[in-house]
Amino acid sequence: MIHTKNVTKTYQMGQVELKVIKDLNISIDHGEFVAIVGPSGSGKSTVLNLLGCLDKPSTGSITVEDIDVTRLNRTQLAKFRGEKVGFIFQSFNLIPVLSVYENIEYPLIMIQDLPEDERRTRIMALLKDVDMLDQKDKFPDQLSGGQRQRVAIARALVTKPKIVFADEPTANLDSETSKQIISLMRNIQKEFNTTFIFATHDEKIVTEVDRIITIVDGIITEDKRTAS
Ligand code: ADP
Ligand code: MG
Repeated sequence: MIHTKNVTKTYQMGQVELKVIKDLNISIDHGEFVAIVGPSGSGKSTVLNLLGCLDKPSTGSITVEDIDVTRLNRTQLAKFRGEKVGFIFQSFNLIPVLSVYENIEYPLIMIQDLPEDERRTRIMALLKDVDMLDQKDKFPDQLSGGQRQRVAIARALVTKPKIVFADEPTANLDSETSKQIISLMRNIQKEFNTTFIFATHDEKIVTEVDRIITIVDGIITEDKRTAS
């Protein structure tokens, strides 16, 4: 479902060119639960942003769901992202002036034209899935880190994306909360066959995924399936 072909990414830093991704060739299938691991600065977030169509490669092509996303313009890309992918970030990125309910509703209002009662049904079901129903009228600053990440997960899932990208989703969570968040994502993957692609160095994620792609200095050094 995701294929990259000879993808590179170069950042221009003043006079200096920094080649961050050197030659990326990977395929990721429907429903995979996969982690991209590697030292800090190795290019994990860059890969995630490229695969998630937040950023464009310098050279090479990326197809997602049979569409060559490197050929889409900004508007088409935004629409594509809105329909196909969800994002979860290390710092949760919730909107502080919106309630839990409104944060989850936000992507639906931005991109999709769903009637309000359908929006409500969908949001209430997700609030239940992430065990946040009784917190729905609270604001982000009234929540713990784990609760915020639950909201962020619900927000990422509300558009029913095929693929969810999660960049260090447990980095700001304690160990017990991290485990709960990982198992929540695992359950969603199993139930809906949602693809999850993590960038992480959290061992708790790495031991849970089905596939580990290691990247060092912008090059894949290992790609292995695990027995879990
Ligand atoms: P990781 O997520 O594995 O820590 P990143 O993908 O964030 O790594 O970064 C890889 C390299 O690219 C780092 O050297 C980083 O400094 C550099 N980099 C990332 N984003 C930019 C940018 N927008 N401009 C210039 N350099 C960048
Ligand atoms: Mg990163």
